[in-house]
Amino acid sequence: MEPRPPEIPNSEALSFLRIITGSFARPAGENPTVAMVEAAYQHHSINACYINCEVAPDALADAVRGARAMGWAGFNCSIPHKVAVVPMLDSLARSASIIGAVNCVVVRDGALVGENTDGQGFIRAMHGQRDPSGQDVVVLGAGGAARAIAIELALAGATCITVVNRDQGRGSELARLISNSTSAESRFVVWDKTYRVRASTTVLVNATPVGLFPDVAAMPDVELDTLKPGMLVADVIPNPPRTRLLAAAEERGCITLDGLGMLVEQGVLGIAMWTGVNTDPRVMRRALVDALKI
Ligand code: NDP
Repeated sequence: MEPRPPEIPNSEALSFLRIITGSFARPAGENPTVAMVEAAYQHHSINACYINCEVAPDALADAVRGARAMGWAGFNCSIPHKVAVVPMLDSLARSASIIGAVNCVVVRDGALVGENTDGQGFIRAMHGQRDPSGQDVVVLGAGGAARAIAIELALAGATCITVVNRDQGRGSELARLISNSTSAESRFVVWDKTYRVRASTTVLVNATPVGLFPDVAAMPDVELDTLKPGMLVADVIPNPPRTRLLAAAEERGCITLDGLGMLVEQGVLGIAMWTGVNTDPRVMRRALVDALKI
């Protein structure tokens, strides 16, 4: 019998094979996620990379097939792919299925599972300040971010969610979705004049792009005198983190939550699902602040 060659220990051989993760979006160039995720990989010595890919809508199916073929651990999907990617996946997590959009795909035993971490990232950031359970929430906007945040807040036990939006169709559809899919009460208010926040409100979330760089002087059309001390006022805008709305809310004694926290916590969630490692949000926030020069 021929002597067998000595086996190369598996761990040595595998050390040259990195875990591959990344993002499919268009445009991709202005998305700072790669900076924060790579910083976390480096800080925690995770042998992984994050590849930020510009993917056109008609190339998404090929990109997804490529990721599956190459054994990627998972990827983020951003604009304009969050809805289009859904039929390309094997299954959806509960909230992603209600929201109808996916921004994070995890490969589990070869199957592609769609998650939505937009709202989950918000909830994790919010937990630092307040438990979502029992809150009376107003969400400004009814687009992708508003939908994800409202559904996650409802699933996390918020009692009442008021959707305030200019477009009636989009706003009332979100309020209906919340009422039909969760145990929270929901109603829609059309945003056709300066919005006055009801006194019973405990959490106000700006989920519109108003205030995003470069239009940093813009402010959602809300009656500032209706913001009360102790109310939690959150903004999804990551750049600049201190929006005019948050500055005004702080002046009125509100507790504030910026959009960077939500972005960082989405990164923490994605990395945990892809690699099993719980990363340090402080390292990731610092990397984002450096990358965005804010
Ligand atoms: P969408 O385009 O899906 O939705 C935008 C919403 O904002 C719509 O409801 C729209 O109202 C409303 N809106 C837009 N402009 C105005 C305005 N001038 N006044 C009042 N309402 C307005 O966008 P997304 O939900 O995907 O994104 C919204 C913001 O959230 C972006 O700035 C994005 O950067 C941020 N974001 C932040 C994340 C984070 O991690 N921090 C994650 C995801 C998004 P209407 O329906 O009437 O047109």
